[in-house]
Amino acid sequence: FKAKESDDLWVRAPQRLHAGDSLTLTLFYHGDLIDRFQDWFFIDPGAAWYPRNQQGQNLATFDLTYHSPSWYPLATVGDRLDSAVAGKVLTTHWVTRLPTSFASFNLGLFENYHFQQSAAPPLDVLLSEDAHRLLARTLARQGLLIPQQRNMREAVAVDVSNSLKLFAYLFGESAYGHFYVTEIPYAEGVSFPGMIDLSWVTFQETALDGFDEFFRAHEAAHQWWGNGVRPGSYRDAWLSEGLASFSALWYLQTLPKHRDDYFKFLEKYKADIKDERDDAGPIWIGYRNATPRVRRGYDVVIYEKGAWVFHMLRTMMLDLRSVKDDRFTEMMRDYYSSYRGKPATTEDFKSVVEQHIGAPMDWFFNQWVKGTTIPTYHVAWKSQPAPDGKYTVRLRVSQEHVAPEFRMPVLVSADLGNNRFAHFR
Ligand SMILES: [Zn+2]
Repeated sequence: FKAKESDDLWVRAPQRLHAGDSLTLTLFYHGDLIDRFQDWFFIDPGAAWYPRNQQGQNLATFDLTYHSPSWYPLATVGDRLDSAVAGKVLTTHWVTRLPTSFASFNLGLFENYHFQQSAAPPLDVLLSEDAHRLLARTLARQGLLIPQQRNMREAVAVDVSNSLKLFAYLFGESAYGHFYVTEIPYAEGVSFPGMIDLSWVTFQETALDGFDEFFRAHEAAHQWWGNGVRPGSYRDAWLSEGLASFSALWYLQTLPKHRDDYFKFLEKYKADIKDERDDAGPIWIGYRNATPRVRRGYDVVIYEKGAWVFHMLRTMMLDLRSVKDDRFTEMMRDYYSSYRGKPATTEDFKSVVEQHIGAPMDWFFNQWVKGTTIPTYHVAWKSQPAPDGKYTVRLRVSQEHVAPEFRMPVLVSADLGNNRFAHFR
């Protein structure tokens, strides 16, 4: 039974089903899947283009056969087992090795740019520079000039490849040995197992403020967080989105041109979080943070505050003498290898953190993940000359806007001159 205006399809079973029974459904369906404007094909990566079980776990392996016009390159999830052209029809057969909760495909008037660096997985970037040129000419006729980078395929490929390489080094090998990077005429990016859809905007131009490097790396990071380790439920979405954003910031920090943008982005997130702190809920309620009253609620709380939680853990685990991240990196690697190919909940992540910190961390997760209050810190100091040319420094850190029992170690760095610093908590 299917209502005209509804996407839901109800099926009556031939007999009453009991727990453990199985039933095979074969569905035949058709529809117009692809819209086209100029040389752009609109295949919504988030659309349900195949029947999906809406009850419980959607995890499945996919065995996909496509028949498409032979002159349109096609990308999808899984390994390509067969490919044959008969007349004008290209038939390809794909199978996913690992269960996934979603599958997608993309095709278009693409050129295929193959890119591989040493010690990085091969990429096939599907894009259409002609489509960009045609669009730019059309807009120019209307008096609208849009900037267009010359080396769009290299610009995108380099960031995806470098960030995949960095994350493999930091977190461990990803589950996929080859990646498609395909261009979509939408504003967002979506990451599927072994296939990364990126907005046409990031091909068009690379913003100067680091946003494009961040955006490409965020989608690449989903190969670890989201596809590799899946969030256990909607409450754990921050372990996918917040961690993908944090990983992308980490990538920015490795780029000489964008080293300081790690903190610039975090500062911007902090301002957003403060703006919403009286209206938005905790990280723990996931998508329920998006309400008509707090429209940015989901983005600010899950992506931005989520990224901050990882930044705070990183700072708490920093070795103050060597200023090295080894303890934090080891923890993230352990988390990835323990939950790769499995769902992970906030509780699971917390227990990995506790193992590595060596102490209960309820207070931290209750405050930042399940709580909504945000402290403000004030730092004041006084120095007095002491004998032998030394100084006595008195430092006072105070917190407000939170209950007195709210606790948080605050990292303070003192500039001692001559490029010497002292760090303490
Ligand atoms: Zn994301």
